[in-house]
Amino acid sequence: MDKHLPLQHVIDSIADLIYFKDQQSTYVGCNQAFARYAGLSIAEIVGKKDTDLPMLSNPELFQTRDIQVMATLAPLITEDWLIHQTMGQRLYEIVKSPFYDDANQLCGVIGVGRDITNHWRIKQRDETRQLALALTASQAPLQEILDAIVKGLEAEVSGRLCSILLLSDDGEHLLCGSAPSLPDFYNQAVHGLSPGIGVGSCGTAVASGKRVIVEDILTHPYWAPFKALVSQAGLAACWSQPIFSSSGKVLGSFAIYHREITHPTLEDLTSIEQAASITSLAIEYHAARLSLERQAKTDLLTNIGNRRYFQEHAETILQQHAAAKQPIALLFIDVDFFKLINDMFGHKAGDDTLIALGKYFTECQREQDVLARMGGEEFAYLLPETDGETALAFAQQLQAGLTRFYDQQPHLQAKPTLSIGVAAFSTGCGTLDQLLSRADTALYEAKNQGRNCSKLYLPSPPLTQPASPTNFLQ
Ligand code: GH3
Ligand code: MG
Ligand code: MG
Repeated sequence: MDKHLPLQHVIDSIADLIYFKDQQSTYVGCNQAFARYAGLSIAEIVGKKDTDLPMLSNPELFQTRDIQVMATLAPLITEDWLIHQTMGQRLYEIVKSPFYDDANQLCGVIGVGRDITNHWRIKQRDETRQLALALTASQAPLQEILDAIVKGLEAEVSGRLCSILLLSDDGEHLLCGSAPSLPDFYNQAVHGLSPGIGVGSCGTAVASGKRVIVEDILTHPYWAPFKALVSQAGLAACWSQPIFSSSGKVLGSFAIYHREITHPTLEDLTSIEQAASITSLAIEYHAARLSLERQAKTDLLTNIGNRRYFQEHAETILQQHAAAKQPIALLFIDVDFFKLINDMFGHKAGDDTLIALGKYFTECQREQDVLARMGGEEFAYLLPETDGETALAFAQQLQAGLTRFYDQQPHLQAKPTLSIGVAAFSTGCGTLDQLLSRADTALYEAKNQGRNCSKLYLPSPPLTQPASPTNFLQ
């Protein structure tokens, strides 16, 4: 091998962009990589200035830097986006150094540019992943997390428009999860579509569980039904990746759109796959958290709210009513002689009765009411915007309607009556504890008066002996 290779031959073998400029920032030489990037021959580049080259969007800045390097005689390292004719914008790390002749006299600058786009993209994606994880861990709303993932993926490559579609729980519909850069009319048209082969890239990806790459929407059969819509939105390409749960279930799709006909690079495919995987993690974590929260507030036997749920909701609603000086009432319901059901028919029969009553109370519940099983065989309703008399009438309706309800429950072995204590704050003032305590007093009175009745709290209820357990089974 020749020990003295010509300099041009050496620099032409280097993939980095290399160029030389004189003291007036005129190009005096470059390597083949630089010439290819500029779309010119080396001979065409010599004699030109940065303002003559198509790859720089801000040539004046580059000339200013040449002056700085020649003035300071120190290398300067910068990162700049250059325009590539076919690859679009690429990020380059550019090292500019003073250039000396054989006599060691300054004669210009030498620059070396290295494409660091992929490195930058990976870093960017890593930051998006870190942000999504941090938001997930801090229990941010799912919408905020999905928006962060979409915006992170869009920032990776200029011209990208990303969207997340979520599959509804029944698997029947695609719901818009996040698509901040797509037009509203487009998102509204997509929201609610049923997934299926031929329903655009996303509907097909969700239905098939396979990635769908459509480089030219207007000529692709999957997009035939939506041509007018995508034309109006100015979209030309759509690549869609199914989002899978950890158990392999399809949760939705992650899509990258472009406004020009575009085919994905390997890097794009990695990017969309990783975005779908971090989206899946966020969705699953969110669903798990919601499920835990629901479980913590739900009574396992009857599937209605538990005491914790009641206290949290009732406290807030009470405060709102106190502030607005609105009436509010509470019903405390106790099943009569329930222990006898367990004793006579077994615990399972008792459970069945509680389940049926939970169902009955749910059917009778108005939209604004808060219903809960407070424990054992005790239930409560908080009745917003309701005064004492209306609440008492509601309690009596509950009792009256019970026989009809039981008629439709032939499997029940025991059909007990209810005693109900009613308490109200006419101006909404007071605490939940006070209201519960008053309703409890009224309930005690109902029990004392023979059970199977409702009593409204009065300041000094008369006390009598509890009645004996007769005729409690209908
Ligand atoms: P009273 O009319 O005075 O209210 O009489 P009672 O028998 O309904 O009241 P008591 O407080 O004496 O008994 C309530 C019973 O409810 C006792 C307990 O074993 C039973 N119980 C509590 N929770 C459950 C449950 O989840 N399932 C079943 N099967 N029984 C339960
Ligand atoms: Mg009780
Ligand atoms: Mg009871």
